[in-house]
Amino acid sequence: MLRTNNLQKVFRTEEVETTALNNVNIHVQKGEFVAIMGPSGCGKSTLLNIIGLLDNPTDGELFFDGQEIASFKERQRTNLRKGNIGFVFQSFNLIDELNVFENIEMPLVYLKLSAKERRERVQKVMERMQIAHRAKHFPQQLSGGQQQRVAIARAVVASPKLILADEPTGNLDSRNGAEVMNLLRQLNEEGTTIVMVTHSAEHAEYAHRTINLFDGHVVTEQIHQNKSFEAVEL
Ligand code: ATP
Ligand code: MG
Repeated sequence: MLRTNNLQKVFRTEEVETTALNNVNIHVQKGEFVAIMGPSGCGKSTLLNIIGLLDNPTDGELFFDGQEIASFKERQRTNLRKGNIGFVFQSFNLIDELNVFENIEMPLVYLKLSAKERRERVQKVMERMQIAHRAKHFPQQLSGGQQQRVAIARAVVASPKLILADEPTGNLDSRNGAEVMNLLRQLNEEGTTIVMVTHSAEHAEYAHRTINLFDGHVVTEQIHQNKSFEAVEL
C-alpha cells in the first residue's frame, strides 16, 4: 500500500541545515499495523508528515497503492488525503471553536456529503468512540482521553484506508492510552492500515512490526512474535 524509495528530507534555515531523513526505505502492506520508534529528533514526525502529504521530501519517491505521490500537485494531494488518510496527533489538534460533532464532521464537509449523510456517519462514529453524550461540548470541556477519542473519530469518519498516528498516547495516562490503543487495534482488525509513531515499547507491541529510526535512517525492523500478519498485497 505504501512504499518509500530513498526518501530524503533536509530542513534549511539561514544558519543550519538539518538532514531529518536520509535514504529512508520502508514498505507498509495493506492491512498492516506498523509502529515507528526512535529517539527524539530522529525524524519520526517528519517521515509521518511526508507519508501523509503534509510535507514534501527533498528527494526520493513515495508510492501509495503503486502510484508515485510525492510529486503530486497541491490539489491532487488534498484530494488523495481527504478520502484515504486519517491523522491522529499527540496534541489532539481539535478545533477549539467547534463542538465535538462539528470537529468530527469536518472531513465529511470537505468530501461534500449531504447534511443527512454527515449526521448519520458522525452519530455512528460518536457512538462507537463513546462520546455521543458529549456531541455539543467543546474540546476544552473534555478530558484528554475524550479529546483523543474525538480526534480518532474525526480521523476515521471518512473511512480512510490509512491512519497515521503521531504519538497518539503521548499525552494520555496509562488507562486512556490503553483505551486508544485498543481502538486502533480494532480499526486495524477491521482492515485499516495503521502507521503509528510511539515512544512506548508497550504500545508498539500492538503493532505487527516496529521500524526503528536513528538519526534519519532505518536501523532495524522487528516483527512482533505474537503477531501473525498474512500479506495480502505486496
Ligand atoms: P520527537 O520524538 O521529539 O517528536 P521526531 O523523531 O519526531 O522527534 P522530527 O520532528 O521528525 O523528530 O525532527 C527531525 C529533525 O528535523 C530534528 O532535528 C528537528 O529539529 C528537525 N526539524 C523538524 N522540523 C523542522 C523544521 N520545520 N525546520 C527545521 N528543522 C526541522
Ligand atoms: Mg515527533
